[in-house]
Order: sequence, then structure tokens, then C-alpha cells
Amino acid sequence: MTFKELNLRDELLFAIKELGFEQPMPIQERTIPFIQNQDSDLVALAQTGTGKTAAFGLPILNMLDESARQTQALILSPTRELCIQISNELKNYSNHLKGMRVVAVYGGEDIRIQLKQLAVPPQIIVATPGRLMDLMKRKKVETADIRFLVLDEADVMLNMGFRDDIESILKQTPETRRTLLFSATMPKEIANIVHQFMKNYEEIVV
Ligand code: AMP
Repeated sequence: MTFKELNLRDELLFAIKELGFEQPMPIQERTIPFIQNQDSDLVALAQTGTGKTAAFGLPILNMLDESARQTQALILSPTRELCIQISNELKNYSNHLKGMRVVAVYGGEDIRIQLKQLAVPPQIIVATPGRLMDLMKRKKVETADIRFLVLDEADVMLNMGFRDDIESILKQTPETRRTLLFSATMPKEIANIVHQFMKNYEEIVV
């Protein structure tokens, strides 16, 4: 399979080519058509290094409206390092999508820097749950237009004690959003989140 066959926009295909990606990785072959063509949520059992950032990042970038200055996707990740890594990867993919902004917000950095970056809402926010909660309490994140909520490394986030924050964030985003959950393991706590917050979902195991 080729990236072109996955019906990605030319701007994305161009960026992928520049990055030297020759073909989609197995998880991408499965999640990209699913996210683009179906309406339901996704639970994906996947380890890091399998290409999962592009597996959710490419179809989301493909479907967002970069001309609308609204936050349309929220990606939750357990650590500052992962947030930076994910946002850098998404910035690479969206290099040719004019107007598309990706902002990473995480604990440990001066919140004033992040407030400035959020003054004009970016289409995509990559965040650690605690810092995002803080920004939401200050009403600095507009959630009304969120179409995608990604929970990346969900098992790690739960182990770090982010359960209440994650539940609160899920409750504060539109019910019409699609939730995409990625986890290396599927402990009972994840199953609880899935049953409580995800309706129709597809399970993909890589
Ligand atoms: P991840 O599992 O998302 O951390 O991705 C692991 C690494 O694979 C990252 O450095 C990506 O840039 C890279 N990658 C993702 N998709 C592809 C692909 N289709 N071909 C080659 N490398 C890729």
C-alpha cells in the first residue's frame, strides 16, 4: 500500500515524501482509512515505535480545517518529552498546510509562554493532562469545536495518576467528538474509561 492510496491531501503527501517515508507502517494502513472513513471511536493496542503518532496524526491533519482558527483536535500525552516529540512530528507533517498550528502545553514550563501561544487558538493542542486542566480552568482553551480527542499512552497516563484529569477533560469536550485511545497494555482501568466514555468503538491490535 502507498500513502497516496490512503487518500491524503497533496500537502501531506509532499511532507511525507520530504521526510523520506516510503510506505505506511502496518498500524497506519489500518488506522488511517478507519479514522477517515468511519464515524466511531478507536481503541488501539500499540507499542511505541510502531508509527502511532502518524497513525493518528496524518488522518487528523487530513481532516482538519486549517483556515479556521479553532481548536479542533486535542492530544493528551503523559510527559513533557512526549508532548514535544508529538508536536514536532505533527509540525513536520503539516509543513505545507498553510495556517495549521500545533501547540504543545505541559507542566514545568512557564504558563505565560503557553498562554501567549494559545491567544489565537491553534487547530491542534498537544498537552499533558494536568497543565491542560489548569488552562481549561483559566478558560484559555476553547473546547466547543473539538472533533478529535486522542489519548496517547493511556496506560502510562493512568499510572501517573492522571485519571481524574482525563475524565474531567473528557467531560468538558463535545459529546460529538471522536475519541482515539492508544495504549501498550489494556489494564482494567483502561477498560473502565472505554466503557464509560466511548460508545461505538473499533479495536485495533498491532
Ligand atoms: P512513533 O511510534 O510514532 O514514535 O514513530 C516511530 C518513528 O517512526 C518516528 O520517528 C516516525 O517519524 C517514524 N515513522 C512513522 N511513520 C513512518 C513511515 N511510514 N515510514 C518510516 N518512518 C516512519
